Amino acid sequence: MTDKKKVAILWLGSCGGCDETIVDINELILGVVNSVDLVLWPIALDFKYHHIEKMADGEIALGIINGHVRNSDHAEMAKLMRQKSQVILAFGACACFGGTPGLANLRSKEDIFRWVYQEAPTVINPKGVCPQTTTRVDGKELTLPEMFESVHSLDHVIDVDYYLPGCPPPPYLVLKAITAFLENTLPAKGSSLASHKALCDTCPRNASKPNKVAITEIKRIHEVEADPTKCFLSQGIICMGPATRSGCGESCININIPCRGCFGHIELVADSGAKFLSGLASMIDAEDEAGLEKISDQVRDTMGYLYRFSLPISIMNQKRLQSDEVKSDD
Ligand code: SF4
Ligand code: SF4
Repeated sequence: MTDKKKVAILWLGSCGGCDETIVDINELILGVVNSVDLVLWPIALDFKYHHIEKMADGEIALGIINGHVRNSDHAEMAKLMRQKSQVILAFGACACFGGTPGLANLRSKEDIFRWVYQEAPTVINPKGVCPQTTTRVDGKELTLPEMFESVHSLDHVIDVDYYLPGCPPPPYLVLKAITAFLENTLPAKGSSLASHKALCDTCPRNASKPNKVAITEIKRIHEVEADPTKCFLSQGIICMGPATRSGCGESCININIPCRGCFGHIELVADSGAKFLSGLASMIDAEDEAGLEKISDQVRDTMGYLYRFSLPISIMNQKRLQSDEVKSDD
């Protein structure tokens, strides 16, 4: 027996990048591992889910969950972690906001299944078979999790105590979050464990941003050679910095790539896409309606820009999400 705090790390619909960033805290991870009793980490350690099921409620001090919720297996595991954990940390953009897989909410589940299993040019499926939740093979029943109608953020399914955004969160923020947990200095429940400023406030190009940005033409980053010293918006290149939480260390900006919003909405803003759109509209410098339309038509893949990481928590997506009854009644 050990009196160390028990920590569980779980991935749901995830690419593995969030687990990788935990490993990326390098040798400092050894200190973390020595300070806690890791009871679950499917990508790295061979614990089984039934070990967690047998634990007392609240026995795990910290449950770290990355990835979005798309199927009944994800929801079931998230609920089990909630039941067994005192504190739940939504880790990474997918758990916090739905992440890039959340863009699938622009299509119905039926559309996705039809394309993936029947219509995509690389598919050979003459009988049009699609996955079923139960199948009989040789007299035995095989089961698959049920795919939900929509991609969900973690807090659509369970109560979440803290949020650590990023795709993935940078290692220094991971270490800061774990240290705050170990030292009992976590902020108020519901807080983001990243900066409370907007990315523009910490961006090294902020000084070059004019008080009033006037955009006469919108360019895509691959179409131009962006000036690495000037604010992207002042160059007519869409950058989500004004509506995105800071804390990433300006990773993309530093390699001359505009921000795409993986740290999610800033404090007191519910919908970063809507917030950015209203700001962008005020920056467009057109003489008349035709000019306005010409410039706005230059924004290709509007939803991909505005909601690359956050469509499932956007205001416009709320109605659709109600068709999945994923939250517990208790
Ligand atoms: S819009 Fe982008 S480039 Fe400009 S100051 Fe903000 S984060 Fe920096
Ligand atoms: S610059 Fe934007 S997209 Fe890039 S890591 Fe930071 S928050 Fe994420």
